[in-house]
Order: sequence, then structure tokens, then C-alpha cells
Amino acid sequence: MADPAAIRVDVITIFPGLFEPFVGEAMLGIARDKGLARIAVHDLRDWTRDRHRTVDDAPYGGGPGMVMKPEPLVEAIEQIAGPKGPERRARVVLLAPQGRRLDQTHLEELAREEHLVLVCGRYEGVDQRVVDLAVDEEVSIGDYVLSGGEVPVMVLLEGVVRLLPGVLGNPESVESESFAERLLEGPQYTRPPEYRGLEVPEVLRSGHHAEVARWRRQRAVERTEERRPDLRDGARGDEER
Ligand code: SAM
Repeated sequence: MADPAAIRVDVITIFPGLFEPFVGEAMLGIARDKGLARIAVHDLRDWTRDRHRTVDDAPYGGGPGMVMKPEPLVEAIEQIAGPKGPERRARVVLLAPQGRRLDQTHLEELAREEHLVLVCGRYEGVDQRVVDLAVDEEVSIGDYVLSGGEVPVMVLLEGVVRLLPGVLGNPESVESESFAERLLEGPQYTRPPEYRGLEVPEVLRSGHHAEVARWRRQRAVERTEERRPDLRDGARGDEER
């Protein structure tokens, strides 16, 4: 049975079949089976009214490609999330390259919501009135363009669900991972202790927890300075504020 505190997620797409294995397997499947996430995938074409179940049309002003029509999207969102406004309890997110760029802080924010509605665009994107009338936030997964919002929704969903309490076997793994405290995680090792002449650092085999923690912190700081100094700069900026 679903936990009453379980997050509810509704996905709106014209390719619901893409989500079947994704939401049923691995971590999302576990979250669903444990009743920690209630995920429903909706076929946008169920909100069309014509014989051809049309969801797109040519752009006003000309130009390449097609644009997603407002009526099915707005009606689907309103039926699932209620009308846009202060009474709405769901957060409606449209995946779009022009949106706020997703990062770990943003995922943590989304994981605290009780109900997310995730909308997948296709073609050249959606009619602006969908955003104006029904969407609360546009989210991008990075500065590049994919053909549809399905993979971006999967990225967001996987990032959110693994943060839900009870989903990961060991909640500490979230606390020490990359981007926690604006640090990248340092190198990790498992058995065997020596492989092709490369040895696992002695300290990790020492059993001294404090030493291990210090070593990990140092490697994390070094790696962050080397690969992503912008993360540390951001942290300094926060401290100064
Ligand atoms: N014409 C749009 C533009 O120039 O911004 C691109 C549309 S894209 C081909 C089709 C759909 O894929 C978008 O509506 C969006 O839902 C999704 N998409 C593509 N790239 C994305 C990204 N980086 N982040 C989030 N969604 C993306």
C-alpha cells in the first residue's frame, strides 16, 4: 500500500510506452513497490478530440517543424493538477531547453513536493499559452537540445526519487555524494586490493574511520578544485552573503 506521504508523480507524454520499463525496474520500481512514489504515465492523445488524435500543428509565422497545440496539454494538466494558481497543490514542470538548468539543489527542492506533474514536449516545443496558462516552472537538463522531454523527465525523476527517504538502502550515500556541500566525490575503490599493479590507498584499508574521513574530504576538495572550481567559488559566494 502507498505511504500517505508518498510523492505523487504524473507524467504527460505522447510516448507513454517509453516509460514502462523505466518506472517498473531498478530504483524507481523499488520506490513504487515500497509505496514511496506513486507514478502514473498519461498519454496526451487521450485529451484530443479529433479522429486523428492530433497534438501538433504548424507554427504561426512559418518556420520549420510543428508546435504542440495548447488544448490537449492545458486540459490534461488542469485535469491532473487543477487550474494554475494559489489553490493548486501540484507543481507542474515543463521540460524545456529554455528552462532553469537542473542541479542537485533543484532536485532536493522538487523532492520535497507532494505532487509533481512532468510534461514532455516534442516537435519544436509547445505553444506559449500552455506555459502561460498551466505550467508553474520550465526545467532544462542542460544546454543542448534533445528531440523530446521524455529523457529529461527520466533524468529528473531518477534524481528526485533517489532522494526520497527510504528509497536508498543507505541514506548516507546521498550525503557524501558529488554536489553535496558543493564538492565532487573523491575516488572510490572496492576489492581486489591490487589490480594490474594499481593499489588501493593504504588509508582506506587501515580501519581508522577518522583518517578515512579526512582522506576522503581532502580528495574531494582536490578533485573539485581540479575539475569544477566553479562549485567552490559558488560556495565561497554563499558564505560571503
Ligand atoms: N525548439 C525548441 C528550442 O529551440 O528551444 C527545442 C524543442 S526540442 C526539439 C523538443 C522538446 O524536447 C522540448 O519541448 C522539450 O520538452 C524537450 N527537450 C529538448 N532538450 C531539452 C533539454 N535540454 N532540457 C529539457 N527538455 C528538453
